[in-house]
Amino acid sequence: MNSIVLRDISVRFGNVDALRGVTVELRRGEVVMMVGPNGAGKSTLTRVLLGLIQPTAGSLVVDGRAATVDNTFKRELGYLPEAVAFSDNLSGRQVLRFFARARGIGRREVDAALARVSLSAAAQRAVRGYSKGMRQRLGLAVAILAQPPLLILDEPTGGLDGEGVALLASLIEEWRTAGRMVLLSSHHLDVLEQQVDRMVVLRQGKLIAAGTPRQLRERVALRHQVTFALTSSHGASHDDYAAALGQFGPVTTQTDQMTVEVLPERMLEVTSIHPRFPGLVTGLAVEPPSLEMVYRRLLAEETQP
Ligand code: ADP
Repeated sequence: MNSIVLRDISVRFGNVDALRGVTVELRRGEVVMMVGPNGAGKSTLTRVLLGLIQPTAGSLVVDGRAATVDNTFKRELGYLPEAVAFSDNLSGRQVLRFFARARGIGRREVDAALARVSLSAAAQRAVRGYSKGMRQRLGLAVAILAQPPLLILDEPTGGLDGEGVALLASLIEEWRTAGRMVLLSSHHLDVLEQQVDRMVVLRQGKLIAAGTPRQLRERVALRHQVTFALTSSHGASHDDYAAALGQFGPVTTQTDQMTVEVLPERMLEVTSIHPRFPGLVTGLAVEPPSLEMVYRRLLAEETQP
């Protein structure tokens, strides 16, 4: 599978338009993150892809050809639902074996999946005693069991601690490197930013923005925080320097550093003042606006008349 396109998908529940002509493309070796407020249509789009609901209009196109979500297609999918629920009395390994048997997968793969999510040591224990994070890892193990070409992760960071998030990030990276596809939805945009190739932003059933994190940052053109490290021996010139930086945006001053908030188009210009302050600046760090901020701005733009 090289590409999957959900083309012009509309879904209507009674008089609610859950999706209105949404197109999302998934490509080999790419991680797509779906974001949007509650009710935006993310779950509905996922359920269309899983074949759980039939769209009112629109089509599925796989490798350029019209396709249906039949059993052959479903075998290509691995899915982590938002709320994972397992039989509490079974052990982690028994849970995985249950799913493995249903898909004709052997014990070796079960053990490999348990190891991949660092649950080998707890594999014999009843799920009843698992923490939320361990249940989430078990859910991930189920999703990756068949090494599916498309991994669909609904709110995968839920319940995971720092180590769990790192594990999730490495799994996503593994899928991308292997030339597979990942579609994830998340409310924690910044946690997985490094793993995301493209973002699609939904709101009230409509696609309001799509692109790489960089493209979306460019589109909203929010200020970047530029921090200059300063030598402390130039006390007198600090005020002049703060004034010079001030022409680019709001300045925050600390003993040995100053931060100025600069619009992207003036980023290069801001360094041009430095010949006037020889020896003052010893370092530079640029922090772009977080994806969360970019997302909020995109939503705000959309609500303006
Ligand atoms: P999200 O996952 O982004 O929070 P959903 O896809 O769950 O959004 O919901 C999109 C819209 O469709 C919401 O208005 C929701 O109330 C409605 N909706 C979702 N599923 C159903 C359903 N089975 N019956 C009726 N309305 C539904």
